[in-house]
Amino acid sequence: MIPEEFILEVKQKTNIYTIVAVYVDLKKVGKNWQGLCPFHKEKTPSFHVNEEKQVFKCFGCGKGGGVIDFIEEQERKTFPQAIYSLALRAGLINEKTSPFFNIDSSLAESVTKGTVYVLLLEGNKYYIGFTNDVERRVKQHFDGEGAVWTKKNKPIRLLKAFENASLEFEDEMTEEYMRKFGWKNVRGGNFVFTEMDYKETPENIHQRKRDGAYLLQLAGDKYYVGFSTNIEDDITKQFNGRGCEWTKLHRPIKVLKVVKSLNRQAQMNMTLIAMKDLGWENVRGYRWLDPFIDKPPELDID
Ligand SMILES: [Zn+2]
Repeated sequence: MIPEEFILEVKQKTNIYTIVAVYVDLKKVGKNWQGLCPFHKEKTPSFHVNEEKQVFKCFGCGKGGGVIDFIEEQERKTFPQAIYSLALRAGLINEKTSPFFNIDSSLAESVTKGTVYVLLLEGNKYYIGFTNDVERRVKQHFDGEGAVWTKKNKPIRLLKAFENASLEFEDEMTEEYMRKFGWKNVRGGNFVFTEMDYKETPENIHQRKRDGAYLLQLAGDKYYVGFSTNIEDDITKQFNGRGCEWTKLHRPIKVLKVVKSLNRQAQMNMTLIAMKDLGWENVRGYRWLDPFIDKPPELDID
């Protein structure tokens, strides 16, 4: 039996947006995210994700629920498998928690070990994925039912498949391909979100080769405030794992904000405001870069 408190903890450490965004191209509309429903064929988006309530709802086919329901439906998993999978992603599987799953070792194995595969896509793009059923998963990509990235860039062929591989290996492969072919052309592992293409943000920050501060959203609801005389290069570094300790620990997902300013004060203010709004333990920037600081800095900003 999986204790209720553990299920609650898994839910608290999971953001439904980051889970759904792997499968659905979501656009922010008012308070909600909207996209084409992955569970029925449609041309206009009737699939909604509400981050505040952590729920999804399709007004076309009526499917809806929380993040666990989404994983059960999308990945065709049983309830315990879905919890296990989300707990794994949230880093909550350890010696204490793995007995909740009776260590039906086939379940543990099926989630922690699988096939890592590399797809070549049109336009010299690549996708790296992890699956327990490579045939079915690759077919989904070819049928336009895989990930957002393979819907945007049509698959050409399966390049490689590594059996009995781990999720960490998927990340390593993704990073290797990013180094080889440029981070803009590769998605996979923890770098699966198309939004991580920061050049598509409304601010069009690629035109801003000058001093400024920026706020990055990282995996696991963490954030980073950076400052640079060349914002574009600096952000690219953070995304490519060559940035600071914090962004190596928590991988960047997207750019939330850019402030043009020659004043380093702007970075301090952005850091303090972000710490106040998002929790000091979730934010690093300015002088507070140590991932393991145990005392919050002074948060008074006036
Ligand atoms: Zn639907």
